[in-house]
Amino acid sequence: MKNGVVYLVGAGPGDIGLVTLRARELIESCDVLVYDYLIHSAILTWCRSDCQLICVGKSPGRHSIDQSAIEAILIEHAEKGKKVVRLKGGDPFVFGRGGEEAQSLATAGLRFEIIPAVTAALAAAAYAGIPLTHREYSSSICLLTGHENPEKQTFHVDFRRFAQAGDTLCIYMGMGQVRRITTELIEGGRSPDTPAAVVQWASLPRQRRLVATLETLADKTEAAGLGPPAIIFVGTLSGSFKNLDWFGKRPLNGRRIVVTRRRAQAGKLSQKLHDAGAEVLELPMIDIEPTIDPRHSEDIFRGIAAYEWIIFTSTNGVEGFFKNFFNWFEDIRSFGPIRIACNSPATAEAVQQYRLAVELVAPEADAESLAKALVSTHVLDNANVLVVAGNRNRPTLVTKLQKDGHAIVDTLITYRTEPSDLKDHPSAREFRERGADAVIFTSASTVESFAAQATNLQLMPEARRPLTCSIGPTTSQALRKCGLPVEIEAAQMNLDAVVEGLITRLAVKQRSPTR
Ligand code: SAH
Repeated sequence: MKNGVVYLVGAGPGDIGLVTLRARELIESCDVLVYDYLIHSAILTWCRSDCQLICVGKSPGRHSIDQSAIEAILIEHAEKGKKVVRLKGGDPFVFGRGGEEAQSLATAGLRFEIIPAVTAALAAAAYAGIPLTHREYSSSICLLTGHENPEKQTFHVDFRRFAQAGDTLCIYMGMGQVRRITTELIEGGRSPDTPAAVVQWASLPRQRRLVATLETLADKTEAAGLGPPAIIFVGTLSGSFKNLDWFGKRPLNGRRIVVTRRRAQAGKLSQKLHDAGAEVLELPMIDIEPTIDPRHSEDIFRGIAAYEWIIFTSTNGVEGFFKNFFNWFEDIRSFGPIRIACNSPATAEAVQQYRLAVELVAPEADAESLAKALVSTHVLDNANVLVVAGNRNRPTLVTKLQKDGHAIVDTLITYRTEPSDLKDHPSAREFRERGADAVIFTSASTVESFAAQATNLQLMPEARRPLTCSIGPTTSQALRKCGLPVEIEAAQMNLDAVVEGLITRLAVKQRSPTR
């Protein structure tokens, strides 16, 4: 036995939430990842930064690498002692040629493991509300393939002999020949009235579901323009559970929403939108770079005990402050009894992560309201106040504290906000081509960057024109200043209210019959 090892790993049908824990653990730790074209791009970001990524799948305009070449790649890297993950769509042993790959590894005397996953038919059934078994109607399921070998499309499976193969039939790779399949099943003895369905892009935001009968399926599929990847279901059950289409009923199903926050911060908002059924496109409008002036920060941290108040105006500021704080001090007790004020609940939450209590949170989540609240509720006369900020923060807060509160204010800049260049960003290309239903702005700086990059974000004629959605008055003001309309404004300045605002405006009330 040699040292290397190959893991034949199933990635599931598409939704990354369906990837197994074991698969994720292996993807995160492997040296080489050999993957198919349809693997979700987010999965690839789980790899170590020094992991070698090799795409071996079919992509438009490019031929797939042939099977023996894939096996040779696996063997070559494993023989070098590498930990190799061979990542395949769905389950590796269901129409995935995992058997052939395992066989060649065994023949080469290499160590391998096989990690199962959710196969497309099971995901399509669950996500389209099509139960595959039922105590009264269906006690067997048959998984079939439209052609036995994806490379040999001409190889004919005779579907007449599968007509009675199981109560529910799940047909993979059959979209090129729906008419032949349904005709042969009827010739083989299945009733033309048998319910049938097609589920395309199962588990992904672009999932489409069509319900018909064996007789009408081919016409309806053509009319709806459905193609691969899809599963065809045939059986008593597939048509009779219309009210189980939970996926199509999610309030933002089929909507594409752009989130303009930078990557690290987009997570929470993207997750909420995803949970409401939206397809999320992350277009990071700004880059945040940590920065610190060593001299100035030395003065501040040496004299930290002299401050009565410390004010945080963003989660980036909190992050930057504590990173530098712990470069100076090992123990949180060095923070002393300084009181803490924050501009918003999100910033306060970031401070509380350090088990520090926050005395004051601005009632309206902006600098003006923070200064007003602080000055009106506390005596700041000659008090030393430290404001932690970014390079682009407006001077309002500091001015007000000095003028109205007579405080002595120092500012510590811990990060820089720069507009990002989206020219060659893959999400920007997608935005230009497909557009979106709405673009969400959560700060004035993202608005300014969006406006400045108008040419990089120019929509193609057939792209969907998005509505603009703002998190609150300051952001709305920035939109108007840039000549952009404010079509949706959140009722409160938080992410849940943003999502609520979008649902109120965009929820799909009239569903097309294919959804
Ligand atoms: N090993 C995979 C199947 C690979 S064959 C698995 O276990 O799922 C490729 C076929 O799988 C496609 O032609 C299609 O029929 C089906 N398929 C894969 N992903 C799918 C998806 N998200 N939705 C519907 N069908 C899918």
